[in-house]
Amino acid sequence: MSATTPNSGPPGPRRWLGLLVAVALVSGGVVYTVEQREQDADARATATQTVSPAPPKSTKPSRIAAAVAARRVAIDTILIRRAQAVQTGNEALFLADLDPANKKLRAAQKILFANLVEIGFTELGYSQAEERFNPSVLKAHGSTTYLVRILMRYQIPKVDFTPVTTELGYTFIARGGRWLLTADNELDEDLGPGAHREAWDLGRIEVQRGPRVLVVVEKGDTTRGRAIATEAAEGLHEVSTYWPLKWTGSVFVIALDETEVRDAKFADEDIESAASTGTTFSSLPGQDTADGTVAGGYVVINPNERDRVDEILLSHEITHVATADLGGYEPLWLAEGAAEYVSWRGIEAVSGPGEVAKWEQEVVDDAVPQLTSLPSDAGFYQNSADVYGVSWLAVRFLVQRIGLGQVEELYEDMARNGTDQASRDRILLSRTGLTEATLWTSLTTYRPQR
Ligand SMILES: [Zn+2]
Repeated sequence: MSATTPNSGPPGPRRWLGLLVAVALVSGGVVYTVEQREQDADARATATQTVSPAPPKSTKPSRIAAAVAARRVAIDTILIRRAQAVQTGNEALFLADLDPANKKLRAAQKILFANLVEIGFTELGYSQAEERFNPSVLKAHGSTTYLVRILMRYQIPKVDFTPVTTELGYTFIARGGRWLLTADNELDEDLGPGAHREAWDLGRIEVQRGPRVLVVVEKGDTTRGRAIATEAAEGLHEVSTYWPLKWTGSVFVIALDETEVRDAKFADEDIESAASTGTTFSSLPGQDTADGTVAGGYVVINPNERDRVDEILLSHEITHVATADLGGYEPLWLAEGAAEYVSWRGIEAVSGPGEVAKWEQEVVDDAVPQLTSLPSDAGFYQNSADVYGVSWLAVRFLVQRIGLGQVEELYEDMARNGTDQASRDRILLSRTGLTEATLWTSLTTYRPQR
């Protein structure tokens, strides 16, 4: 059954903790002097494998600073123009600053433009973060090369409660006295997880809309897009029925013929997953804080599972989406247990209590004996034991002990404040009278009530 297929949970801040040091070095609109630039480049060298070119000794630093400032203004102007082009549906304006020599880029940018217009952002803006140095990019494009990390800040109506940020890397060159965008993929490997792999970055899409649902599929994949939108609406209904949190958002589901979308990797680490919910950030990890600020989540469907998407699977993922913006610090056993709790309540409503009782007994008999404690965050998704089943059992047990409303409040408290083990222990103990250790002991002696 799809609900028992391991689904990747909300990556949350946890997956980002090991993020490249480079991301922490944000210039935020500061005009770099050559000296600053060198220092920063040295600091980044370990992460980006690049070096700063030596400053031209014959030129006065003030002239270089002036040139850098002029370049910043020129690039800002291009970025503003491109955002305006999307908001006014003006393709010619969007393509106006592309390098005419790069025909492939032009074709790809036409598709990108059509996709961005189809999504229909209420807010869209691009800004320059810091310059990056890469000898091979410099060699390919010449001495005027300007490789820069770009922050794309956008808001999809109803889906994003606040503007969110994603990263890009653009290569500009100066030719005939003006700046041109000549590549948009030369920094991809040095960006954070899932950068430049957003729903609109991967080929021509179409958007299917329902009440509180937005589904992105390949252009022409209309029937499947509509079917997924229907299932998502039902999954959303289950979440609002079985999870007490009042969530009013819309669900963004991406179902493309791609194994890597955002930070989902269905070709390797997420290969067993039918779907995964990845985090959106109002402030990226490293931008203002190490963990970033979580804004919400988007659902990505495994391309091989697109025909098997049902409301049971989606109710699991939508539970993650509905709880994503609470903070993301809840333990994974609670996040996955709550998502499984909601989807199994949906199964129970359809097929009666028999199947749930049978499954619960299997978890008690087979899964619990394989573990010696509640599954920890570390290695959760790599664990070969049925950590989803055990997490589900833990939430079932807590619902029986303190009631669903109290479990939901426990979840919110954990998501907001469970930043370390001591905080998690304190929250769990004060709200349930149990520690993780005594909760585990309770599960090992738990006999489901019939
Ligand atoms: Zn999950």
